[in-house]
Amino acid sequence: MKTFQAVTPHIWRLGVWFTVMPVNVWLVREDDGWTLIDAGAKPNASHIIAAVRAQLGDAPLRRIALTHGHVDHAGSLLALVEAFPQAQVMCHHEEAPYVTGEKRYADLRPPHRSYRMAPKYPPQAPGVQFAQLLDDGDMVGSMYAVATPGHTPGHVAYWHQGDNAVICGDAFINLWGISPPLNMFSSNLEQVQKSINLIGELEFEHLLPSHGGPILHKGRGQARRLR
Ligand SMILES: [Zn+2]
Ligand SMILES: [Zn+2]
Repeated sequence: MKTFQAVTPHIWRLGVWFTVMPVNVWLVREDDGWTLIDAGAKPNASHIIAAVRAQLGDAPLRRIALTHGHVDHAGSLLALVEAFPQAQVMCHHEEAPYVTGEKRYADLRPPHRSYRMAPKYPPQAPGVQFAQLLDDGDMVGSMYAVATPGHTPGHVAYWHQGDNAVICGDAFINLWGISPPLNMFSSNLEQVQKSINLIGELEFEHLLPSHGGPILHKGRGQARRLR
């Protein structure tokens, strides 16, 4: 079984596959236990649960925090909640209704036509109970939630100041080198660019995207080139 691999002193990465795409989920070590960032897709559930258990040992999983609610990030959420019922689930307050199904990504009507051509999956975790709905600047363990809307209305990145790292979700992807997320999956392209600019203003070195490898040391510099 593929296990979590250390990336920075407090952050571990597990790479899984969803259809044709590599997807990363992250474990962050805190004084009180661990935080899981993102939940992968539904077919990844048993692998992620086993890999989290192997990494945690006797330590508790305290939090499951989403960057956003897309199928490849929230698909295993209900299975993870069942496996780790003590973990507090959180995401941005603008994103929560898309995770539970009160709102649908398919109903967003951005002016660019490619968005309408992309597949829209059903809500990934109807009925899930959020322990906390995040605002920009809220702390998640030792990380700051950074509101980075655009790819989705309530997308957040997680800034680990101590490790000089930003877990950036789909604010950037690194499949063919660093780039903005694909237009066809992003609901507001102006906001996508604003969020890219905003991340470039943060102090960090390592950029940890959901798709593709971590960009170590040069992450901020590469992010700033897309401003
Ligand atoms: Zn996405
Ligand atoms: Zn994604």
